[in-house]
Amino acid sequence: MAALFSRSSRSRHAAVLGSAMVLSLLTASFGAGAAPARQDATPMTGATPSGTAGITKEPFGTADGKAVDLYTLTNAGGMDVKIMTYGGIIQSIQVPDQTGQVANVVLGFKTLDEYVDHSPYFGCITGRYANRIARGRFSLEGETYQLAINNDPNSLHGGDKGFDKQVWDAAEVNNGDGVGLKLSRVSPDGEENYPGTLTVDVTYTLTDANELRIDYHATTDKATIINLTNHSYWNLAGEGSGSIYDQELQLNASNYTPVDDTLIPTGEIAPVAGTPMDFTSPQAIGSRIRNSFPQIVTGRGYDHNFVLDRQNPNDTSMIVAARVSDPTSGRTLTISTTEPGIQFYSGNFLDGTTVGTSGKVYRQGDGFALETQHYPDSPNQPNFPSTELQPGQEYTSSTIFALSA
Ligand code: BGC
Repeated sequence: MAALFSRSSRSRHAAVLGSAMVLSLLTASFGAGAAPARQDATPMTGATPSGTAGITKEPFGTADGKAVDLYTLTNAGGMDVKIMTYGGIIQSIQVPDQTGQVANVVLGFKTLDEYVDHSPYFGCITGRYANRIARGRFSLEGETYQLAINNDPNSLHGGDKGFDKQVWDAAEVNNGDGVGLKLSRVSPDGEENYPGTLTVDVTYTLTDANELRIDYHATTDKATIINLTNHSYWNLAGEGSGSIYDQELQLNASNYTPVDDTLIPTGEIAPVAGTPMDFTSPQAIGSRIRNSFPQIVTGRGYDHNFVLDRQNPNDTSMIVAARVSDPTSGRTLTISTTEPGIQFYSGNFLDGTTVGTSGKVYRQGDGFALETQHYPDSPNQPNFPSTELQPGQEYTSSTIFALSA
């Protein structure tokens, strides 16, 4: 199984967007619809007349002496998404349930200062390297790089001041299938000790079919590593409404990457069958979370990368990765991606010290994250798909969050 995704899948990072959006093996059981193809972005102007799709902007404070804006993307399907230029953070996603009742289904804060002071990566762009790198160290083309150890003894989510803590440039875009916001920035060579000047853009598109699509794109002037994701914490019953343990998760993953006690993969690609890691059929998130299975104990719950089932390891087509349903509200979230893995994190470190957007305290298990990405610590794991990016190559990655009720 270890050979399933080999180092030769490096070409994932040069994959062309808009390739056939073939939904894989489990498409039938997931029952997913086709995903929209990305088209070229052109500027869009004008305010949003009420009840129609559009985008508006308001000031949201300052960070690092730079003005931060909060954009609201609205569609004709009753959904709106607020995204700020600080960290590309999705602050809220308002969407109706089966009775038409609208709620915000992602965790967050009311003010910018709270994000700057103490956010556990709520809703942000995570980079340059989402997830952990063992001891913050990796080698590339004969050079060894030492990153910040911000999650002792490892480096987590891009170091001390990752992409989640930067103010991004923003442009409104109309890419044919929805209202869009393109965030961009140039990360200088050596930022957080990563090599290469990285030119990055991240485009959010909200379609009238209640899909939020995120397209990532980057180039470098020197060999580097990259792994970008969005770090939203979801609660399909509404943020601040309590535990997500009754919400039912299905993952398109027959294997996962077990971790050591610092949450670094051991290198093994292990089958989920017969363990509480098996979400190949829908399971309530909390149904096995108190199980003494050693990986659950180590993670204090679920905090693991799942290896998505793909027929061909080099395939970067959009496949359904995960589906979560909330039996109470009837809301369903379907996540499709071009990535090889997905980190499922059951909000284990939320500890009742965080007061969220609507003034309610977030406790352990009050939100879950499903982060589409390459596997943790790939730069040190030769049998994992490569996260290297060379000059002349284009890094692309796309994920669609589709909501329905
Ligand atoms: C990681 C967790 C971490 C969380 C918040 C997740 O992506 O897997 O271990 O606690 O992010 O930082």
